[in-house]
Amino acid sequence: MKWDAWGDPALAKELSADIKGLLAAALGVTGDAAPGPSAAEVVLRPSRITADALEALAAAVGETHVSAADADRLPRAGGKSTPDLLRRRSREPQDAPDAVVVPGDEAEIAAVLAVCAERRIAVVPFGGGTSVVGGLDPERGGLEAVVSLDLRRLDRLHALDETSGEAVLGAGLTGPAAEALLAERGWELGHYPQSFRFATIGGFAATRSSGQDSAGHGRFDEMVRGLRVVTPAGTLELGRGPASAAGPDLRQLFLGSEGTLGVITAVRLRVHPLPAVKAHEAWSFPDFATGTAALRAVEQQGTGPTVIRLSDEAETMVNLAMTEQIGGSPAVSGCLAVTVFEGDAEQVAARHDLTREVLLAAGGSSLGEAPARAWEHGRFSAPYLRDSLLNAGALCETLETAASWSDLAQLRTAVTEALTGALPGALVLCHVSHVYPTGASLYFTVVAALGEDPLTRWGAAKRAAGDAIIGAGGTITHHHAVGADHRPWMTEEIGDLGVRILRAVKAELDPAGILNPGKLIPS
Ligand SMILES: Cc1cc2nc3c(=O)[nH]c(=O)nc-3n(C[C@H](O)[C@H](O)[C@H](O)COP(=O)(O)OP(=O)(O)OC[C@H]3O[C@@H](n4cnc5c(N)ncnc54)[C@H](O)[C@@H]3O)c2cc1C
Repeated sequence: MKWDAWGDPALAKELSADIKGLLAAALGVTGDAAPGPSAAEVVLRPSRITADALEALAAAVGETHVSAADADRLPRAGGKSTPDLLRRRSREPQDAPDAVVVPGDEAEIAAVLAVCAERRIAVVPFGGGTSVVGGLDPERGGLEAVVSLDLRRLDRLHALDETSGEAVLGAGLTGPAAEALLAERGWELGHYPQSFRFATIGGFAATRSSGQDSAGHGRFDEMVRGLRVVTPAGTLELGRGPASAAGPDLRQLFLGSEGTLGVITAVRLRVHPLPAVKAHEAWSFPDFATGTAALRAVEQQGTGPTVIRLSDEAETMVNLAMTEQIGGSPAVSGCLAVTVFEGDAEQVAARHDLTREVLLAAGGSSLGEAPARAWEHGRFSAPYLRDSLLNAGALCETLETAASWSDLAQLRTAVTEALTGALPGALVLCHVSHVYPTGASLYFTVVAALGEDPLTRWGAAKRAAGDAIIGAGGTITHHHAVGADHRPWMTEEIGDLGVRILRAVKAELDPAGILNPGKLIPS
């Protein structure tokens, strides 16, 4: 993973002259952005960790697994939101954790937490580093120093129970590493967020991630059967049996806890046999309202696609231009919807036929397989375009929310108006990314000229969008999580008493307040 951009540098793409021309004409983009510093040129604020603390941490995890070198601090300086990337491009001194600690097992994690609690050192659990909400900001929270607790060594498939369809996966496994271990035995987890290639099992659990196959396999939190968590107050193993009536479900406290209540070390997950076949079909709808109603009908009738998503008119047009740039797909007008079905041949054919019937009745026209296959082929590539856009002088960022079907149209209008009000002339794209019987998630992409002071301008747009989301009945986040960026809306999201409950739980589990200060729970 590049420290100042998304993913694998070898996959980065230059924008074509045509696209740059379009950016100039449509958004007033005036030319390439000034290049940021190289890793060697970046100035990090000096580490505040003491030699004595480093020694204690080395005693906990081994000397080779602790570092205060800038080369190790820089890649853990934050996540991968656009503001993160803009900050990385700055030539001003940058914040970074004071040291990086890479434990190998639960005992070492418990030892690190004890050292940090005793010496007043904040701890930021670090999975794949793909947070887009400031979840990895190296905040000290008034303590002496902050360390990044990199969980990459927790990378084992601990168990696979083929009778029950459950696997226990180490928190540090990335999406591809987890799927590869399961695939060797003919199994799949089926969690494919756009950040799949770099994000980790622990990160998915800690943020309540949602993957693109969520219509078929559910959100990540729905796949979780159990988890192990190390907290400063002790270690918990949660989740007995397939379901339980033994009081409130404490797993839910740690799903979405974003490193503020404990360190998730292993997750027991529902898995399924690798699908025998896949079917793809894309659809066109005359407008977003018709397409949204069609997706609702599919979900409420339970016809069973694995993937179903719908782009609005603007996103359909932009995707087409981008797909052409990366190798072509047939022309599409109106709003593009993609469906994918997985399973054994007979089931897939039946679910596909049922879904097709509903979509046709709801006003859809089939576009055949090709656009759906093109979407699947490029589904992990889009984040590279954000880097290309930044290089070309355009600001590009995303945000997401969810609401009941009855509130969805007004939510989309409110967010779009808030974004274009704060960033006049910006292009706002939207798609329905995840569906439920009672509602859906909306995912927005905003593109505007980078202009002067993009961090401040984006900050204003984000505030306006967050207020609009809450005002229109949406949740402040459907899957990106809260981090530092959504924390200002948490009181509106869960109420003052809800915040006090979270604070009380934190006080019990983390009395020294070392775990990920400044995230999730309003102070
Ligand atoms: C390009 C791009 C596309 C994305 N697409 C999606 C998407 O489709 N769906 C989606 O849901 N999200 C998406 N995200 C957001 C992000 O990938 C998810 O939030 C992901 O679940 C984070 O996993 P991670 O391993 O990278 O965690 P990190 O980013 O390393 O950490 C995220 C938060 O969880 C905490 N944490 C991490 N591991 C642990 C652990 N083991 N125990 C306790 N706390 C921990 C961290 O302290 C931090 O607060 C995307 C992000 C990017 C940059």
